[in-house]
Amino acid sequence: MAATATERKLFVGGEWLETGDWLEVRSPYSGDVLARVAKAGAAETRRAVDAAERAMQEPLPANKRAEILVRVVGALGRRHDEVARLISDEAGKPLKAARVEAQRAMSTYTFAAVEARKLAGDMVPMDAAQAGEGKLAFTLRRPVGIVGAISPFNFPLNLVAHKLAPALAAGCAVVLKPASQTPLSALLLAELEEEAGLPAGWVNVVAGAASEIGDVLVEDDRIKLITFTGSGPVGWKLKERAPKKRVNLELGNATPVIVAADADVPLAATKVAQNAFSFAGQSCISVQRVYVERGAYDEFVAALLPLVDALKVGDPGDEDTDVGPVIDEGARDRILEWIRSTSGEVLSGGDLEGELIRPTVIANPAPDDKVSCEEVFGPVCTVTAVDSVAEAIDLANGTRYGLQAGIFTSSLENALRAAQGLEFGGVTVNEAPTFRSDQMPYGGVKDSGNTREGPHYAVREMTEERLVVVELP
Ligand code: NAP
Repeated sequence: MAATATERKLFVGGEWLETGDWLEVRSPYSGDVLARVAKAGAAETRRAVDAAERAMQEPLPANKRAEILVRVVGALGRRHDEVARLISDEAGKPLKAARVEAQRAMSTYTFAAVEARKLAGDMVPMDAAQAGEGKLAFTLRRPVGIVGAISPFNFPLNLVAHKLAPALAAGCAVVLKPASQTPLSALLLAELEEEAGLPAGWVNVVAGAASEIGDVLVEDDRIKLITFTGSGPVGWKLKERAPKKRVNLELGNATPVIVAADADVPLAATKVAQNAFSFAGQSCISVQRVYVERGAYDEFVAALLPLVDALKVGDPGDEDTDVGPVIDEGARDRILEWIRSTSGEVLSGGDLEGELIRPTVIANPAPDDKVSCEEVFGPVCTVTAVDSVAEAIDLANGTRYGLQAGIFTSSLENALRAAQGLEFGGVTVNEAPTFRSDQMPYGGVKDSGNTREGPHYAVREMTEERLVVVELP
């Protein structure tokens, strides 16, 4: 264990608990053990659900929930450097990207606080129907119940924030299972919520055995909603196993970008270089497939390659690193295998720099190559020449994914055709589809998911309407 390694306990019912069993958290860059975290199983998860149930028996008024959320924003601001370094250490995320994530979590909490203060139902126009004459009706928005939250490794702070903050805004207690590779940011966030005055049981963090914890979240009837961000097979299986619960899924993508012949090509190349390789491509909306109209193809590739070659590959703890490690050796070997097996031409990268995969650009792979149709989740993008924007839209739609897609064009017609024709949850125009601002409705269609996150939308999911009908005297 590294000399600086720390021990973290679970957070259940307002107490920090040991279990006698430990989970080691290792740096994806150096392999050093950064910390060991008390490992939870089914018993601790049930205890967490009990604590959440007790907490919800004494609801917190919206103004208190909003105040706590705002205090967390302040704490994240004051401890920004520590938070960013923790993300960088446990996820192997370059510090500059970790800083952006830490700042975005402040935005997520801020928007959740706004939602807490404006949470309200609707008036129902009762006399619009003859049967409703003489009656007044309105809806209340009630918390759905205890939320079971499961989060991935790649945004260990802000994707946890996208679950904890809206749940508190909605008045729901949470049992959170963070990714085993990156539980430290989640535990820190729970600590900040506790310090901000959150009473016991409203947030519980159980890191550990995924299937054991998942089984409790699926089988315990007191969990009314599961919010899951991660890979498709795990997410869809959870949904299948919990037919009576709301199961909200935020899953993967094989993110496409179209560059039309009339695009600002230097802009498109810059955005692709920035957004295909940041955090070694381990964002669900990392640019992966670029379809370029033939008229702009040579210019695009000539502009892209020097930008890619200029990216600094190295230690994620260095302020100027652009591309660090992928999460573990298994991921690295899989990505290298996918690069080796492509029929396309490797224009840049394709190999290792030390232990790290160099940013890789592959020209014109076959549509059924893994790099064309599966989520690479690594520092790899493909560039493919196409005859028309219509062909590019068809190819972009040609996978099972549908999270976000983008187009670069100066033509309104192309932009609107893409906005209408791309089967994705979000379409960006003259911006990389990696763009996300935390208040946006963010989520996918097809295999990429079935919900929208962003505090306004998540709070809507985490509440349900109760109708009240009043007979007027
Ligand atoms: P993952 O392997 O599916 O893991 C996600 C979470 O699920 C982890 O906490 C994991 O726990 C847990 N898990 C695994 N098996 C489980 C089970 N049987 N029951 C309950 N929980 C279980 O995904 P990942 O590798 O961490 O993340 C990468 C994926 O997430 C990519 O596909 C990416 O595109 C997607 N993603 C989507 C979004 C979005 O907003 N749409 C955002 C970020 C990432 P352990 O860590 O203990 O295995």
